[in-house]
Amino acid sequence: MTAAPHAFPAPDHDHAACVAAGLAQAEELCRARGARLTDVRRRVLELLLTEGHRAVGAYDLLDRLNAGATGKKAAPPAVYRALDFLVEQGLVHRIASLNAFVGCVRPRDDHRAQFLICRRCGAVAELTGERLTQDLAEAAARAGFTMLSAVVEAEGLCPLCRDLPPEEEPE
Ligand SMILES: [Zn+2]
Ligand SMILES: [Zn+2]
Ligand SMILES: [Zn+2]
Repeated sequence: MTAAPHAFPAPDHDHAACVAAGLAQAEELCRARGARLTDVRRRVLELLLTEGHRAVGAYDLLDRLNAGATGKKAAPPAVYRALDFLVEQGLVHRIASLNAFVGCVRPRDDHRAQFLICRRCGAVAELTGERLTQDLAEAAARAGFTMLSAVVEAEGLCPLCRDLPPEEEPE
């Protein structure tokens, strides 16, 4: 399995370009599928992408969504429904071990994702190692098991945190 060259992008990369590309892809995909990217759905995706390559919990998203709002504030169900839609469309992945969400970096491709999660800074990198999923499906088949989905979440240290001395841990 090979990691994408930018699995963990450098901190000084042009993240505004990531956000713009993510939103443009989402709009294009939804249009092609006839799915409705409503204002709330788009805003939730934008906040998630803006947050950088890390997972964000639903309540943090809700806070951010309402931070600049003057009139009516969004309620938790609205955010959950927006997240359900985004996950369904493959624009966002749920990170089960963190109970949080991360924007997909390549929503155009149909893929099973594996995640590398940094335990120090919360950075999340998405890998698409088809072989890993295939191996798992084959092992499952040998066990007489029909695999419908598989979630792989590896916890560890990202390239930046790996080189930090322990006393400089952000927490
Ligand atoms: Zn970025
Ligand atoms: Zn993805
Ligand atoms: Zn890290």
